[in-house]
Amino acid sequence: MSNTRRDFMKLGAAAAGLSVLAPFEGIAGRLDHEEAGLFSLPVDASGEYTLSPLPYAYEALEPHIDAQTMRLHHDIHHAGYVKGLNGALAGMADARAKGDFGLIDRLAQKAAFHGSGHILHEIFWKNMAAPGSGGKPAGALLRQINRDFGSADAMQKQFAATSTSVEGSGWGILAWEPMGRRLVILQAEKHQNLTQWGAIPLLVLDVWEHAYYLKYQNKRGEYVQNFFNVVNWNDVAARFDAVAR
Ligand code: MN
Repeated sequence: MSNTRRDFMKLGAAAAGLSVLAPFEGIAGRLDHEEAGLFSLPVDASGEYTLSPLPYAYEALEPHIDAQTMRLHHDIHHAGYVKGLNGALAGMADARAKGDFGLIDRLAQKAAFHGSGHILHEIFWKNMAAPGSGGKPAGALLRQINRDFGSADAMQKQFAATSTSVEGSGWGILAWEPMGRRLVILQAEKHQNLTQWGAIPLLVLDVWEHAYYLKYQNKRGEYVQNFFNVVNWNDVAARFDAVAR
């Protein structure tokens, strides 16, 4: 990562007051180049955040997640969070330039919402792979899962129940909590509510209606069960190995 890009990310995160961004920048600074790619957000030459392309074709996750949903979800919804985050950061820069912080509460809320939405979607796309190609929990990740949940099956059941029962729009999140040094399963309401500070997402599942409604309508539980057919456990394990040292 170039100094310019790192400085921008540091400035951007600090300016946004984004607790969720700051640990990622901190982690990226300690990891080698390949590992840092798991925990960094792409920016363009002007320093604005950009939308990563999907790491596979729109139809790659079928029949579990359909191409039309992926196209709308990535190209419209996720792109909207990138735009919203850049807009909030620009609004903060403008406020600093004018010395007028009258709208800073709204800007901080926008940065938290869109910044968290951008981060979680960047992880979500990489957390999935074509059916049958994502491997199984193994190695150090599996040992930690066994320690903290008893078994991979019990973890998966808790993750599914947690994701299915999110009130309204949100996420199920398997995260590494570095102070307690354990894996935790969280709900997020919207993108940013109900976090545990410092917890680093490893496996995330979008349960907003836009993630499943075209194909599954109100059957969120069925979508959640089918998600496990496309989980990329190799990606989850790489994230775990990078942060749980
Ligand atoms: Mn989404």
